[in-house]
Order: sequence, then C-alpha cells, then structure tokens
Amino acid sequence: MKVLVINCGSSSLKYQLIDSESENVLAKGLCERIGIDGRLTHKPTGKDKVEIEAPMPDHTAAVSLVLQHLTDPVCGVISSLSEIGAVGHRVVHGGEKFAASTLLTDEVLEQIEKCNELAPLHNPANLIGIDACKKLMPGVPQVGVFDTAFHQTMPKKAFLYGLPIEYYEKYAVRRYGFHGTSHSYVSKRAAEILGKKPEDLKVIVCHLGNGASVCAVKNGKSVDTSMGLTPLEGLIMGTRSGDLDPAILEFVAGKTGMSLSEVLTVLNKKSGVLGMSGVSSDFRDLDAAVKEGNQKAKDALDTYYYRVAKYIGAYVAAMNGVDVICFTAGAGENDAHLRKSICEYLGYLGVEIDDEKNACRGEERVITTDDSKVKVMIVPTNEELAIARDTVALV
Ligand code: AMP
Repeated sequence: MKVLVINCGSSSLKYQLIDSESENVLAKGLCERIGIDGRLTHKPTGKDKVEIEAPMPDHTAAVSLVLQHLTDPVCGVISSLSEIGAVGHRVVHGGEKFAASTLLTDEVLEQIEKCNELAPLHNPANLIGIDACKKLMPGVPQVGVFDTAFHQTMPKKAFLYGLPIEYYEKYAVRRYGFHGTSHSYVSKRAAEILGKKPEDLKVIVCHLGNGASVCAVKNGKSVDTSMGLTPLEGLIMGTRSGDLDPAILEFVAGKTGMSLSEVLTVLNKKSGVLGMSGVSSDFRDLDAAVKEGNQKAKDALDTYYYRVAKYIGAYVAAMNGVDVICFTAGAGENDAHLRKSICEYLGYLGVEIDDEKNACRGEERVITTDDSKVKVMIVPTNEELAIARDTVALV
C-alpha cells in the first residue's frame, strides 16, 4: 500500500509518499508560506527536484498542489490518486485521550479539538491538514499519530507537577512529553540492531534536534521524558530555554516591562543556545564560533551538554540502570563533538566512546568500545516511516 504522510504546521506542510511494502520513500516535499504566497519543493525519488512559487491561500490549496505533483506525468510517482491507500497525519497533542495512533473518525476529531488548548500553535494546524485531506481524498482512511501517545505509559510520579492537584483534575495540567514517535521508533530500532527484544532493555533516547528531549524507555515503554505540558520544559534547545525557575518570568517581566506572554515568547523563540550565544540556534554555527574563540558560544554549548548529561543521570536513576543510550535527530545524529562531550560525563556508568566509531554522521552504529559497560548508539530517527507503519497497521 502507498501511504501519504502529512506533517502540517500553521504555514507549512511536509509530506512523504511511502510504499509500505518496501518502505521506500517514493516522493517527499514541503509547502511553505501557506496563506502568504506559497512555495513548493517536491522531490520525487529518481527524478529531478521541482521548486516552484505557487499561490497557496490555504492548506486545501497546498494539499491539492501536492496531489497534482504526485500524479503529474513528468514529476509524479503514481498514475492516479486511487493508488494512495491511506493518509497518516502527525498530530502533536493527544492529551490523555490518545495512548496510541487512531483512525480519524468524526468523534476522534472532536476529541482532538478538545486538546487544542494544550498545543495552540500546533494542533489547530494539524486539524486543518486533516480536513484538507478528507475533502480532497474522500473515502481514503486517515490516521492520527500523536507525539504524546508513546509517553502515556509514564507513571503518575513522573507526570504530576508539584502543584495543587485540582490543576491536574480540572485543567489537565500535567507532564505529557513530546517527540514520542521518534523515541518509540529509535528505542525499538536500537533493540533490533542489537538483536534484542525491547522488553529486555533499558534505553535512554536523546532526541537532539532544533527541539530536544530525553526519554527513559524501560522494557519498551516510556517511563519518563524531559518535555512537559508543553515542549518548553527540559533540555536547553535551539531557541527554547528548557527548565528554569518559574519565578524568572515575573522577575524578567518586572525588569524589562514585558508582559508575561512576551516573556514566554522569549523563552520559546529567543532563548536556548541562540539566546545564550547571541550567534545561532544551529550547532554547526556554534561549533564554528567556538573555533574562532567565541566564549559565549562555548558557554552555551557547555551548558547544553551538561544539561543533557544531568538528564541521562536522572533517567539511569528512574530505571535503576541503563543498557543503551541512543543519539538521534539533527545534532544527535551528526555532531560527533556533541556526543563525545555529553558522554564525557558518563564515565561513572562505564561508558567508553570509541573515537573512530564516533567520527561519523547519520549512520546507524554503536560508538562505544567493545568493553564499554553501556552501549552508546547513533540511531537516525524516521518519524515519517513510523507514522506510515502505524497507519498501515490501523487500516
Ligand atoms: P532537526 O530538528 O532534527 O531537523 O535538527 C536540526 C538541527 O540539527 C539544526 O538546527 C542543527 O543545529 C543540527 N544539525 C544538523 N546537521 C548538523 C551537523 N552536521 N552538525 C551539527 N549539528 C547539525
């Protein structure tokens, strides 16, 4: 079956068409500036890339353009839309209602809408994408795959905040966690590569991209993760602050004259390694700045590495041990110096990095010595494939 995977943002839409039997990507692409003007990048496998400016007043227009390109005689990869057997949608927040992927019936869509207030930037955009696909491909099954679902196995002691309990009971204020599709895929793939069953392993996954989170996966289940009610909690990220003393919000608002919501925007968009260094949110730029002697960039990276190492330590405690630590996502997969710097804190676990094995980018491999007590691995994430697999399983 051919599965169209859709990841819809407020003004963008990423897609992949995947053949579920071979698991090959037939085409992938990106619509940007939806509602502004519109730009499409379409990459059909084995054919020339197409980049065009095209009006996209709304998401339905964007999906329509994607479908036209997928079936185009020159740059297309299928002869008719009837070849698409199902559509899998990334949905950011499933609240406590969704502990697994699900077919998107009208009742399910209503329930997702109720989660909108928990992810006001993401969920409404996801729903618009679903609506557009339903309109343009009536009768084709649509499946929702939630970023939060994998973490629904977290025990109460991991997801409750130290707040008055009625905030949880009345307003669902608790830790949910994100990147669940990635943490699930990577932890299972690590077990597969090692020839073990996920049920027999304690794995810590470090998803270090622009957004970043760590997850403790015990016997195949998420038992703790670093993001919380929103994706702001936890690690220092590209532009997000991660954990901080909540009193800072009022303190900074008082000093700068900003409103609380303006301070929150700073915490989400102008903090992290970008805000700390004043250079960039991209680790490649920061590495270059450090080489040129930029002390703020060095401080930002040192603080970033230290925070990841502290979370790994916390999750070793949460699981009473660890067998495998995985690095994934843009920086985790590609930045050997970042992996080495984090693992330098893990000598107490018996982690020994093999520098030759670590000197690589984006390859599935073990990067510790044969004697290392804990295995450290690079496992490139593949959220689209995980979404396609869940979609096929449900239809
Ligand atoms: P993601 O969110 O997974 O797409 O990751 C994006 C981030 O990965 C970028 O902001 C970069 O900081 C980082 N990244 C990508 N390639 C490299 C690389 N070769 N070296 C270091 N960091 C990288």
